[in-house]
Amino acid sequence: MSSIPTLTLNNGVTLPAIGYGVFQTPPDETITAVEAALRTGYRHIDTAAAYGNEREVGEAIRRSGVDRSEIFVETKVWISDYGYDATLHAFAKSAGKLGVETIDLLILHQALPSRFDLTIEAYRALETLLADGKVRAIGVSNFMPDHLERLAEATNVVPAVNQVEVHPYFRQPDVLAADAAAGILTQAWSPIGGITFYRDGEHSSTLKDTTIVGIAQAHDKSPAQVMLRWHLQEGRSAIPKSVTPHRIEENFDVFDFELTDTELAAIDALDTGVRGGPEPADVTLEAFGRDIPEA
Ligand code: NDP
Repeated sequence: MSSIPTLTLNNGVTLPAIGYGVFQTPPDETITAVEAALRTGYRHIDTAAAYGNEREVGEAIRRSGVDRSEIFVETKVWISDYGYDATLHAFAKSAGKLGVETIDLLILHQALPSRFDLTIEAYRALETLLADGKVRAIGVSNFMPDHLERLAEATNVVPAVNQVEVHPYFRQPDVLAADAAAGILTQAWSPIGGITFYRDGEHSSTLKDTTIVGIAQAHDKSPAQVMLRWHLQEGRSAIPKSVTPHRIEENFDVFDFELTDTELAAIDALDTGVRGGPEPADVTLEAFGRDIPEA
């Protein structure tokens, strides 16, 4: 699959520009879904300890017949496992469930603004794992510019990635700018606006947006493909999720057309400033903590 465009992280490691996400994919559907993605040509899988499906992601990788070295495996440490020793152990739990020796990208799932000391200790554990060759790159998720600043003051390795909510209705230009200034790759979660579908209880919203639909028609592509192309052309990593075979394929068929600068700007202008996910400033152990099982 030499035709998949890649992105280069700030430590020289590369990853495919379009990956495959498995948030809310039930464990009993995950093996089939990830196998379908790997058959389609995806070579980057994004999971998380908190998704409860790392074991099935690992099983799908083994069943796929694709060599482990060709697949970029990303997972996330949940906040309940923050702290130096706890985060080292979180790596062991995730690697054990995935059945891998090395994790390609390990990131902190959220900042804990009211326990930033724990967040820093967790990140220091990631730095140790990186130095020891247990992970090939480290990063963060849902970090706002002030979290990135506080992290930079207390740690040595600049995160390779900040995985944040980015879709046409919530673009977070301040986060995009802070990431770019620090040399951090922005990775878009809910890249086609999935979080807004959950909120509305149906597939609506970005997929039916008249601007996006109009651009899609002009290119004979789907709205989802236009949104993924928008991420690619603006230099972001994107990790669309689908358990539907034809959509898994559709979301990977985005390398043969080009949006114009005017079209990119029209999509940028759709930003409503309304966040779909939890407010990062409000994430606490009390509200969101939960036990991550052993491998
Ligand atoms: P997405 O933007 O990827 O949208 C997923 C939704 O869109 C699903 O309901 C899916 O349905 C549907 N869908 C997928 N492709 C198409 C298509 N071509 N046409 C129409 N509908 C489509 O949202 P997610 O929230 O799932 O985000 C993607 C990934 O980002 C997650 O899986 C996870 O890996 C990561 N993530 C990370 C978070 C974090 O805090 N770091 C938070 C949220 C997500 P169906 O599956 O039924 O086909």
